[in-house]
Amino acid sequence: MRVINPATGDVLRDVAESGRPAIAAACRSARAAQPAWAATPLAARCKAIRRFRALVVERAEPLARTLALEVGKPIAQARRELAGVLPRVEFFLAEVGGVLADEVVGAADGLEERIEREPLGVVANVSAWNYPWFVAANVFLPALLTGNAVVYKPSEFATLTGLTIAELVHEAGVPADCFQTVVGGGDVGAMLVEERVDAVCFTGSHATGVKVAAAVAPRLLRLQLELGGKDPVYVCDDVDVGAAAAAVADGAFYNAGQSCCAVERIYVHDRIWDRFVAAFVDTVRGYVIGDPFDEQTYIGPLARRDAALAHLDAQVADALGRGARALTGGRRVARPGFFFAPTVLVDVDHTMAVMREETFGPLIGLAPVASDDAAVALMNDTAYGLTAAVYANERRRAERLLAGVNAGSAYWNCCDRVSPRLPWTGRGDSGLGVTLSRDGIAAFVRPKAWHLRGA
Ligand code: NAD
Repeated sequence: MRVINPATGDVLRDVAESGRPAIAAACRSARAAQPAWAATPLAARCKAIRRFRALVVERAEPLARTLALEVGKPIAQARRELAGVLPRVEFFLAEVGGVLADEVVGAADGLEERIEREPLGVVANVSAWNYPWFVAANVFLPALLTGNAVVYKPSEFATLTGLTIAELVHEAGVPADCFQTVVGGGDVGAMLVEERVDAVCFTGSHATGVKVAAAVAPRLLRLQLELGGKDPVYVCDDVDVGAAAAAVADGAFYNAGQSCCAVERIYVHDRIWDRFVAAFVDTVRGYVIGDPFDEQTYIGPLARRDAALAHLDAQVADALGRGARALTGGRRVARPGFFFAPTVLVDVDHTMAVMREETFGPLIGLAPVASDDAAVALMNDTAYGLTAAVYANERRRAERLLAGVNAGSAYWNCCDRVSPRLPWTGRGDSGLGVTLSRDGIAAFVRPKAWHLRGA
């Protein structure tokens, strides 16, 4: 398998893909090693993960550079991703003891009722490339801390990062057999989820998520699917227009729009429409496109290369063909590598793919709305349900509107945001299950109910 630099198209390295025998062996060794890891005192498991955190701090700069090189993430954004791993580690370390603690829920008439939390066993972690550190860590950290073994498949577009994560986990003291890595593309992922594992945690697109769900269904495995979104923002008429436009544009274009929770469509109250659009386009025209290693770069290349460019071309062509207008961008950037100009479309409606299907790139549609009710109806007019945001001066108005939106996360005056303390969960086509928060730790254990009567 070739690892390509998306900023230039150059080959960075050839990596051997894992074959079926190697994938099977990884799962077998993980299964054999897991009971001893589960029997290791929690303090010792925590110590290894604390050491992992220290290694991330110590090597942050080379790790960020690897991310910039193979994913094309602008270096400043790559550093922010690495920094963002640290509070996640701290959260999991602080909370895992509480989640694992036995709970006595009844003690009467000589009968004790107790709940114990046991690890699931072997967790297959099939991962995405857009935030390779975050999406992997959301799974393997709580999985390991709760006593599971993990077989991790990094995305084929973030293989070097994936291999480095594995090195760090092992160097930190997690036994090699308890954290296995298999490398390759979709076929390797497909082979992994066919193996004898106890849980599959998948992060990726809805289309692949459905295939994974079908593959594991006959075995009734624990399944988590962190899928895509078509995340809406509604901007009310009482906001500071300049500040809201800058914040929402950042939510749409950060990481070149390649975030599961990137802003994917924007509805603006028609009283502020003209002013908002002008400020928004101004902000977007100011974004620096270029070399991910340039400190000034805000928009880098697209990690999925030709496939991503073709997808964006198709969404733009579809929208323009149905009457949309591009106020800026609308095309690829004429330079080596895989760059698409940040694009703002208006005169859009929900007959267009750009307003219904995940874009996952630097392209956004804006539409005016006449009322709050109209905005909520449009926000709900999609099969996805990951996040939704309202920009409004009044908290009560925002909360009332967001209460009516079917999404796992609701943002008032913020967007494109994830917190370790809050559950990360999608509805509808955005997925199944929860990562992060205490629920996202509990996702890696199963309860055992003890009914204990003394003789
Ligand atoms: P993808 O679905 O193409 O691939 C995801 C992973 O699945 C990769 O490792 C890939 O090799 C593997 N894979 C492909 N076919 C497979 C199969 N048949 N069986 C098993 N594994 C298979 O997605 P991607 O391009 O890597 O990631 C982008 C998508 O991920 C976007 O839709 C984005 O919204 C979503 N995402 C969601 C979250 C979230 O937390 N909800 C986070 C990040 C990304």
